[in-house]
Amino acid sequence: MISPVVAGQVFLKPKRAQPFYGRHPWVFAGAIDRVEGDPADGAVVDVRSHVGSFVARGLFNSQSKIRVRLYSWDESADLDDAFFRSRLQRAIDLRHNVLKLNTSPDAAYRVCFSEADFLSGLVVDRYGDWAAVQFNALGLSERQEMIGKIIQDVLGVRGVYRKVEKGVGKLEGVKDVDGLLCGELPPPEIVVSENGIKFAINLVEGQKTGFFLDQRDNRATVAKFCGGKRVLDAFSYSGGFGLYAAKAGAAEVVCVDSSEGAVMLAMRNADLNRLPSMAFTKNDVFQELDSLVAAGRKFDVVVLDPPKFARDQHSLPQALRGYRRLVQQGLKLLDRDGVLVKCCCTGLVTMEMLEEVIAQTAVAEKRDFQFLDRRGPSADHPVSATCREGAYLKCIIGRVG
Ligand code: SAH
Repeated sequence: MISPVVAGQVFLKPKRAQPFYGRHPWVFAGAIDRVEGDPADGAVVDVRSHVGSFVARGLFNSQSKIRVRLYSWDESADLDDAFFRSRLQRAIDLRHNVLKLNTSPDAAYRVCFSEADFLSGLVVDRYGDWAAVQFNALGLSERQEMIGKIIQDVLGVRGVYRKVEKGVGKLEGVKDVDGLLCGELPPPEIVVSENGIKFAINLVEGQKTGFFLDQRDNRATVAKFCGGKRVLDAFSYSGGFGLYAAKAGAAEVVCVDSSEGAVMLAMRNADLNRLPSMAFTKNDVFQELDSLVAAGRKFDVVVLDPPKFARDQHSLPQALRGYRRLVQQGLKLLDRDGVLVKCCCTGLVTMEMLEEVIAQTAVAEKRDFQFLDRRGPSADHPVSATCREGAYLKCIIGRVG
């Protein structure tokens, strides 16, 4: 047997190997005693205990706090085309055979979610005939031609478009820009269908990978509360919660987002779905909530789905103040027996912390609050038991007295 190509050996400090035997994929600099063989960034390395036993194989990056991302615990496995192909196939099998998300040619779903699919740093979303890919690890970015080709093969899409996550240059040394990776350039508008609702996706201009697939099931659940109601969709992006509400027969739907592009996209989606009565406001949500409260406006359902507020512990207190402020204004806008939908995609904020924010704010506002549902993302955004840091999205639904 030809032995796998390995460019270096990374020796761990004594007593630091246990998480990696436990298959956690991130080896931080602090756990490393020494590196032998002078591996280039992106090269394959073996991680070994302080006595030299093989622990796992991964990709090295001196520019990242995550010095090695681990991909295989099998010493005979090469991190080659066949390896990535089989990992991606496993990820697709979950979406196709278990979750049955590929029921129509215009379906949209997350194909690969980084650590959750044992491919740390690789995110792939499918929008009908097209795929969007993010390389959030240098080692994968360096293998992007190979990975792009595999994605095209295993999904049978016409083209794969690369989107670059904000900050990944600084965190990982990735120098990519958005652009076509392989196949044909996607059209300016891809129309997908989600639970019978059409969404236009602009892969080139859109935020993140173009659409927030993680809220699919939450949008459907919230729609059940919206028939005949006055609904405020705050941080609406392409109109997700609002479109579902309008389709469910809401009496009034107001979408608010500060991004011009997002508002245009949401308006386009209202047209596509023939939902002419939705209203759209381009404004900062904090300001808009203040003016709506000042004007004495009332709603029956308020959805708050802000972007990530904190990336590190340092900014956590400020993030929690932001959530508290949103909940406070949301409660003021809700009539008696209204429904609050509070989402949070900051991984550092746990479900318990978010419940606490709501509980304290409800008491301060002298409103009864009943938790009806505590939810996570749709199942195409799983969490691996070996890397629970991947859990990030919370969606709390409650009745306000
Ligand atoms: N609910 C959406 C996803 C929301 S993503 C869905 O179901 O698809 C978060 C959105 O918040 C983005 O569209 C972004 O433009 C918007 N945003 C970020 N900060 C904002 C602010 N301060 N005021 C208004 N919108 C904001």
